[in-house]
Amino acid sequence: MRAARKHDDDGLFAVTGEGRAVALFRLVLVFMAVVMLAFVSTETWRIWRDYRHAFVNAEDSVTNLARASAQHAEDAIRQVDAITAALAERLEGDGFEHLDRPRLHALLRQQATIMPQLHGLFVYGPDGSWIVTDQDAIPANANNADRDYFSYHRSHTDRHVRIGSVVKSRSTGDLIIPISRRLNYPDGSFAGVLLGTIKVDWFVRYYGDFKIDERGALVLAKRDGTILVRRPFVEQVVGRSLANSEVFRNHLPYANEGIAQAVAVVDGTPRLYAYRALSRYPLVVEAGLSRESIIAPWRHDMIKSIGVLLVLLLGLAVFGWVVLRQLRERIAIERALHQAHQTLKDLALTDSLTGLGNRRRLDAVFEAEVGRARRQGYPLALVMMDLDYFKAYNDRYGHPAGDQCLRRLGELLRHMLKRPADLAVRYGGEEFTLLLPDTDAQGAVLIVQETLHMLRRLGIEHAGSPLGQVSASAGIAVAYPALETITAEGLMAVADSALYEAKRQGRDRYCLAGAPATSA
Ligand code: GH3
Ligand code: MG
Ligand code: MG
Repeated sequence: MRAARKHDDDGLFAVTGEGRAVALFRLVLVFMAVVMLAFVSTETWRIWRDYRHAFVNAEDSVTNLARASAQHAEDAIRQVDAITAALAERLEGDGFEHLDRPRLHALLRQQATIMPQLHGLFVYGPDGSWIVTDQDAIPANANNADRDYFSYHRSHTDRHVRIGSVVKSRSTGDLIIPISRRLNYPDGSFAGVLLGTIKVDWFVRYYGDFKIDERGALVLAKRDGTILVRRPFVEQVVGRSLANSEVFRNHLPYANEGIAQAVAVVDGTPRLYAYRALSRYPLVVEAGLSRESIIAPWRHDMIKSIGVLLVLLLGLAVFGWVVLRQLRERIAIERALHQAHQTLKDLALTDSLTGLGNRRRLDAVFEAEVGRARRQGYPLALVMMDLDYFKAYNDRYGHPAGDQCLRRLGELLRHMLKRPADLAVRYGGEEFTLLLPDTDAQGAVLIVQETLHMLRRLGIEHAGSPLGQVSASAGIAVAYPALETITAEGLMAVADSALYEAKRQGRDRYCLAGAPATSA
């Protein structure tokens, strides 16, 4: 295989200033991209982590709130449950005919004072009339037979306490939660109702003590969804149903305690809720923090971080832009320098008259070509060509005509050599040299024959030559550096002798070293 190479010197310029600048430019570009990407991804990760943390913390808060509120409600109701149970036992045991009302009144009063949540304790007869209460005066003709809890107990025989919906007290006008149980005569028939009422305000104040933002919510509701108490408290909300809310519809039926994100039925606020059903009573507590209050601090932080990040990225971008611009300028300068250098080098290696290479160019590659031919085991041909009777040509036609003649031969040689690795130089004066790698004697002879033939066909008149026109003689030396010890200088000497032999034998011919001269 023949090496498709050109005799130029790009290889010598591989590590130039320009190359280094281009590498640096790429390095800076990659570095900037990596740094920016690192900044952005770290910040994105941090923002996401903070967002998750905000919700995890909020989940803890609402869960704690729900547990505390549930415990509070349970305790408040259990006390009323216990005291009404004890009272019922006593009333039913003593019998309703022999009630000592003053003593009973005193007992109710005393019980009411030790339970701050209690609004009142009431005993109603089977017709709804007030028998005894903890209050000092019984309103005239007071009758509670129309109350919901009264008709319930009258028609239901179960002995558990019943927690009713919020009503307005007839005695004080306060909003109260009625906790009632049925009284029985010994035969099991309806003897009336025992009622303990809890102030809604008791819960309102307790819920008000929690430090949550104004969009947070605390709700105490019956298991069917009816609201008993809510923070923020507005009277109109009491009695409304949460049955269609996310928690009551999709969570409570499956778990007595949990977390849910939902938009509030009551005020349309998106919240994170923790809910908990009381273990003993059919009540549910919900604690909710508004999504906004959870996210707001995080968002504030995020906006600041993004701001800082943007400033940082902008700074980096400006810095990078300045550096890259300078590098680009440097690259342009290096390129111009490189081109100038290349041009000078080309000029130094080029023969100005013919445009072919000069002797320096031959010197620059000759040894290397011998080495290459040795390594790759191919033949190397060297041709020395000299115009015949050229002194006479100059003398007769003048130096400029001589120059023109040299140019025409130069052109001819350029056309003769087709392969990139072939090299034709003007060795000096009217002497030309062809260096033909991977070319054997036969190949070199063909080229030389063709060249001499073409020169003859140009038919340049030369009255001073016995041949009547311009001709040339050539010496060909072919070496196999892999098989013999040969240097560039040695090869040149062999070609030179062959040229001399061609001249001697009459000119306008070539001589292959080691073979008789041949007139082409
Ligand atoms: P031969 O080679 O056939 O033996 O005879 P010659 O007359 O060519 O011999 P020689 O090598 O002594 O002469 C070389 C001549 O080439 C001398 C000079 O007049 C001419 N010459 C050398 N360089 C140039 C050049 O650059 N321009 C011109 N016009 N002539 C040159
Ligand atoms: Mg000559
Ligand atoms: Mg000569």
